[in-house]
Amino acid sequence: MNECKESRSGGYNCVVCIKQVPDTKKVTGQAMKADGTINRAALPAIFNPEDRNALEAALSVKEKHGGTVTAIAMGLPNACEILREALMCGADKAYLVTDRKAAGSDTLATSYILSCAVRKLNPDLVFCGRQAIDGDTAQTGPQIAEKLGFAAITYLEGLEMDGDYAIATRNIGTGIEKDRVKLPALFTVTEKFGELRPYDVRRVMKYKKAKAPAENGGVALEGDRAIGQFSCDDIGAEPERCGFAGSPTNVNKIVSVVLAGGDYKEVPATDEGIAHLVSELIADHTIG
Ligand SMILES: Cc1cc2nc3c(=O)[nH]c(=O)nc-3n(C[C@H](O)[C@H](O)[C@H](O)COP(=O)(O)OP(=O)(O)OC[C@H]3O[C@@H](n4cnc5c(N)ncnc54)[C@H](O)[C@@H]3O)c2cc1C
Repeated sequence: MNECKESRSGGYNCVVCIKQVPDTKKVTGQAMKADGTINRAALPAIFNPEDRNALEAALSVKEKHGGTVTAIAMGLPNACEILREALMCGADKAYLVTDRKAAGSDTLATSYILSCAVRKLNPDLVFCGRQAIDGDTAQTGPQIAEKLGFAAITYLEGLEMDGDYAIATRNIGTGIEKDRVKLPALFTVTEKFGELRPYDVRRVMKYKKAKAPAENGGVALEGDRAIGQFSCDDIGAEPERCGFAGSPTNVNKIVSVVLAGGDYKEVPATDEGIAHLVSELIADHTIG
């Protein structure tokens, strides 16, 4: 591989998708409602951990090569909390994507709406976390890439830029792969990329009162206090592909799985003992 690494003049425009999630490490007895849905009021809302790594990836590209970093979060107005954090760490601009039409979106509709917002920002590189700790599907990033026709590079651990190409180091489970990919491209980032840098004190002062209109009685603030806001119409998202209308997923049943220790069984360390164990596991559908 030719590794003559060059920045591109004007740098790279990076978009980072960040999600506000319930802090699943603080799960208590009140974490689930009787109907099996998450009791969001009982859990603090945090910046999805791997989205912090994704933001660090974008900030490190800007630091080395110039350009811009824009953070977008789709959700309710309180998702502005993490957009402010992104601004305090070094993002240039932040947008909240919020709309009643987006309520009930599964990953297909979520990735469609986010892809419309990303397209409007016309980036060279898009970064997502590998996975959100609440929904946990890891589908959103690759689905956004597919809708935009961008290359999707998952499990990103390191990144170098080379003109109109990115050289991505990704973990493929059994080893490390290096991919040279033409921009624009989308990357899903793991914690191995490195921790998000701390807040910059001057930026804390600058952005601590930043708000989107949805947080401010519908009124847009000026200058550094403005977090941008997109509705589905603003980003040209077709209503039939958003929210409940655009979500083919049906949740049949939600069960709260409680793992508890039970009796143990001793299996004789013989071929017959193992064969018996395997047939028991197949019979109770644990394997097979
Ligand atoms: C039938 C159904 C209805 C649902 N209704 C709602 C609802 O009304 N409200 C609701 O909040 N959720 C709803 N959800 C959950 C929602 O679909 C998922 O949270 C969302 O699609 C992301 O999937 P995930 O959590 O698995 O994220 P993953 O795919 O694991 O996330 C990977 C990465 O994608 C990016 N990303 C994911 N979501 C966002 C986001 N919102 N903003 C910015 N970046 C993001 C982040 O970078 C993240 O690290 C519903 C799900 C289903 C199945």
